[in-house]
Amino acid sequence: MKRRMFIKNQIIVKIILIISLFFSTVIVGHYLIYLKKSKQPNVILITIDSLRPDHLSCYGYKRNTSPNIDSLAKEGVIFTHAITQAPFTVSSVSSFITSSYPYMNLVNLEQKEVYLNTKVSTLPFISERNGYKTAVFTDHFIIGQPVGLNTDSANFTQIKKNSPDRLTQLSLKWLRENKNRKFFLWIYYYGAHYDYKPSLPYSDIFFNDGLFKIHKNIPISTGIADGIFGVIPKNIAENNITDVNYYIARYDGKIRIIDDQIGLLLQEVKKIDLDKNTVIILIADHGESLGEHNLYFNHGYDLYDELIKVPLIIRYPNSMSKNKIIDCQVQLIDVMPTILDILNIKTKNIYMQGRSLMPYILGEKCYTQKYAFSEIAGSIFCIRSENYKLIYVDRESLTKIPLPQIPHLLNYYSDEYYLYDLKNDHFETHNLIYNENILFENLKQELNKYINKAKYQALENKKPVQKHYIKDKTIGYPNEETKEEMKSLGYAQ
Ligand SMILES: [Zn+2]
Repeated sequence: MKRRMFIKNQIIVKIILIISLFFSTVIVGHYLIYLKKSKQPNVILITIDSLRPDHLSCYGYKRNTSPNIDSLAKEGVIFTHAITQAPFTVSSVSSFITSSYPYMNLVNLEQKEVYLNTKVSTLPFISERNGYKTAVFTDHFIIGQPVGLNTDSANFTQIKKNSPDRLTQLSLKWLRENKNRKFFLWIYYYGAHYDYKPSLPYSDIFFNDGLFKIHKNIPISTGIADGIFGVIPKNIAENNITDVNYYIARYDGKIRIIDDQIGLLLQEVKKIDLDKNTVIILIADHGESLGEHNLYFNHGYDLYDELIKVPLIIRYPNSMSKNKIIDCQVQLIDVMPTILDILNIKTKNIYMQGRSLMPYILGEKCYTQKYAFSEIAGSIFCIRSENYKLIYVDRESLTKIPLPQIPHLLNYYSDEYYLYDLKNDHFETHNLIYNENILFENLKQELNKYINKAKYQALENKKPVQKHYIKDKTIGYPNEETKEEMKSLGYAQ
């Protein structure tokens, strides 16, 4: 009897193995067909600062903020759980553009010199080294110098802050001039970043449209002394308006401005016949808090989903996956390996902590990447599984940061740990550390592995920068103008 059972089980195992082998072969086959079809396509990476996915129509938002981004999404894939590694620009950008966690790429704001870790390389640097005509265009002052891209060998153009029209025009001109070469183009829009003062008609386009029924009035701050929570920042406030819905409508208006620019870009790509061999990827560096967790119209101070969830849309030519939604949790550090995969660039000798998303796009089920990690300046950390999130606040380390906002943050985080059930507590309001002991301990253990690596790296980072690498043009020094702009956004002086 036992022997018969054993033979039966053996047969079942063999059948499962054959089925698995069949599906793996199909996926690998598709992948090879894809590579053959799209021999080294071009890539356009679009980044929109402070853009929340849930304020895009293609992610389910009720306002028509994004008709053009929606059309891009319809021709490609949407990732619904893409997580940034930091909720503020410098740290997020230096992470996704080097495919490394914040502790690894190091942008040291406490020193005069800002530099990238010697182990990492930027995506534009790699693409140019591999024969791609490469260019970066931005109207965000922070992308160049602090991250070091302005001194990188890539063609880097930074224009006046918040000039989306001109940014698009410059990018289109470059596209027309380089359409016959293989290229990587990165366009970074200041985008939906505060302040929220879109020009007409965008300023009024969504106001009083009845979407938000409950009106809420919040006091306007007079400065950092008032705190950063529970107030409308004074640099956002207009005409003493305290209605939260007013500012949300303005934020949405800013999204629509950029969406129109994306429309122009998509039109031109088609017109000059680049759409058949150009992959377009759209991301944001982080989200924006619009009142959730008592933080109004700001980012950088917590790790809740409104700040760490970002849009990620990928459209590639000859697509086998049109209008596809992928719910697997992925990280922004996966974008660089995905692009290098698309460009057919060998990655064996490139230090990267992310992994290519091409298998997902080509049909593979969510694989073993169980966790996403985000952090704020080595002081607040979070681990996120698909269902749960654990946040840890290192109060001692937070105290050492030389920023006037720190006392407010110490007040805000009364506990050391915060555990949330993301499926049943969408707004992350019930801390479960006392209800879910086993889960808490498991996630804590995993998060500690990340924190230990970060601590080890912090010690490594204190060693002198290798001079040959500085010569290799990956170091940046903010000039006085950039320093002033950074100061105004709350970065260390
Ligand atoms: Zn940003």
